[in-house]
Amino acid sequence: MWSLLEQGNQRWAAGRSHRPRQDPRHRRQVAVAQEPRAVVLSCIDSRVPPEVIFDVGLGDLLVVRTAAHTIDPLVTAAVQYGPQDLSASLVVVLGHQRCGSVTSAARALRGRVTLPGELPAVVAALEPAYAVSDGRVEPMAHAHVRRTVLRLRADPLLHGSATVIGAYYSLDTGLVSRVT
Ligand SMILES: [Zn+2]
Repeated sequence: MWSLLEQGNQRWAAGRSHRPRQDPRHRRQVAVAQEPRAVVLSCIDSRVPPEVIFDVGLGDLLVVRTAAHTIDPLVTAAVQYGPQDLSASLVVVLGHQRCGSVTSAARALRGRVTLPGELPAVVAALEPAYAVSDGRVEPMAHAHVRRTVLRLRADPLLHGSATVIGAYYSLDTGLVSRVT
């Protein structure tokens, strides 16, 4: 499945998207049942819509999005639906370039500032990645992808039922690369 996503991403980056399975006929087909092949856990960023950047269509992906793909029990549960209920055994954790959530968390941690509302939960989730990257945004985003992958791989329900991989989207090129 990863190779299909990779090929779709290359079409997108080259400006040759097929926009597959987005027509009314396919909409009617998947209305009765879905068989998504992968789960993508990604950031809320408006420039990184998974179905668009992987050039896939209706019924292809389960998409879970939070600020900087931070996870908690509800988010992990959403990811678990893929392999548990829908035989989507690939989980892609997708970080991206110039992530606003990572940038703002790095700034808050550096300045020891408490953000308003529920935002400190995001900052706390990003603190381990901040600690290993000297607060530099791109290394921090990569570290956060790796950490999220390891946490999901250690999940008792996902362990053995899903392959969890990390990836990173470049806003500049439109290309997704693997994070190992
Ligand atoms: Zn982001």
